[in-house]
Amino acid sequence: MPLGQYQRKRDFGKTPEPKGGTAGGSGGRFVVQRHRASRLHYDFRLEVDGVLVSWAVPKGPTLDPKARRAAFKVGDHPIEYLHFEGVIPAGGYGGGDVTVWDTGTWQPDETTDPAQALAAGELHADLAGEKLRGRVVLLRTGRDGSGKERWLM
Ligand code: MN
Repeated sequence: MPLGQYQRKRDFGKTPEPKGGTAGGSGGRFVVQRHRASRLHYDFRLEVDGVLVSWAVPKGPTLDPKARRAAFKVGDHPIEYLHFEGVIPAGGYGGGDVTVWDTGTWQPDETTDPAQALAAGELHADLAGEKLRGRVVLLRTGRDGSGKERWLM
C-alpha cells in the first residue's frame, strides 16, 4: 500500500488533492511544487515505479554543485500529484497553497535501478525540467527516532 501514509493524513472530502491509486505504469517525470504551508518549502517529487517519491526541501532544490540543501523525506504521493495546484484547507495536513514551480522528466544515471538506489540512500538523477536541467544527487544522511529520513540534495 505505497500511498497509505499519504491517504491516511488527508480527508479527501475536504481537500482538493488527488486521492491517487488510479494511475499506473512507469516513466520518469518529476515535479517541484512551491508549497506555502505553515512554513514555505518546496516539494521535490520523482516518479518511481508508479508513485511520486517525495522530499520537502525548505530552501528549494538547486543544481549549484557547491550547494547542499536539506531535504526531508515524506510519504510517496500519487502520480496525479504531478499536476496538482490548489489550496489545501487550513487545519488539514499541509494546509496552504500549492503551485507547480518546475516540471519535466528525469533519468537515473547509468544503469542504476532507482528503487534500489533510494533504498541504499544515494540517487543520482539527471533532470530535464524547465528550470532544473542537470544532475542532482540525493544522499540520505540519517534517520531520527521516529524513522523520518534526512537527506541532502
Ligand atoms: Mn509540502
